Amino acid sequence: MIDIKFCCLCGSGVTFRIPDGDHLPRHICNGCGEIHYQNPKVVAGCIPHWGDQILLCKRAIQPRVGFWTVPAGFMENNETIEQAAMRETDEEARAKVTIDGLYGVFNIPHISQIYVLFRGALVDGKFSPGPESLETALYDEADIPWDDIAFPVVTKSLRRFFADRVRGVYEPFIEQVEPFKR
Ligand SMILES: [Zn+2]
Repeated sequence: MIDIKFCCLCGSGVTFRIPDGDHLPRHICNGCGEIHYQNPKVVAGCIPHWGDQILLCKRAIQPRVGFWTVPAGFMENNETIEQAAMRETDEEARAKVTIDGLYGVFNIPHISQIYVLFRGALVDGKFSPGPESLETALYDEADIPWDDIAFPVVTKSLRRFFADRVRGVYEPFIEQVEPFKR
């Protein structure tokens, strides 16, 4: 939760309290009465595949610069979640995908995020690094750089993806991500 100091609509100070009829404290404007709700953010991502290979991106931005991940990012307003996954794949890997289906959903309550991952087929096999990537590459399962994957949730998703592929069944799942412990 961001600790809001001033109302972004009128510039007055705010008070953190439970609004009438509500059950959680919110930042409420002392001037115009606006209630500044804060709700979880949605991250949309894609496991892009081409034949037996998976497209990964080496991150050019913090956190985890230089580590590999799948295309993913925050949804924008006025787009669908599939559009968000396709847009992120285009932005980070300059690749066009068609969405095969929902892969899985990760609840990440400790940072108030939800991560929705799709399977996406590369349309023409073309890709190149976008501004947020240092490098993009297709990997066979045997060559995935497991020690250099950016986030545990990506490692988990890729391992599960390859296991599902052997079985030939992709059953959408919901998992919870616990806080990262050093
Ligand atoms: Zn206000």
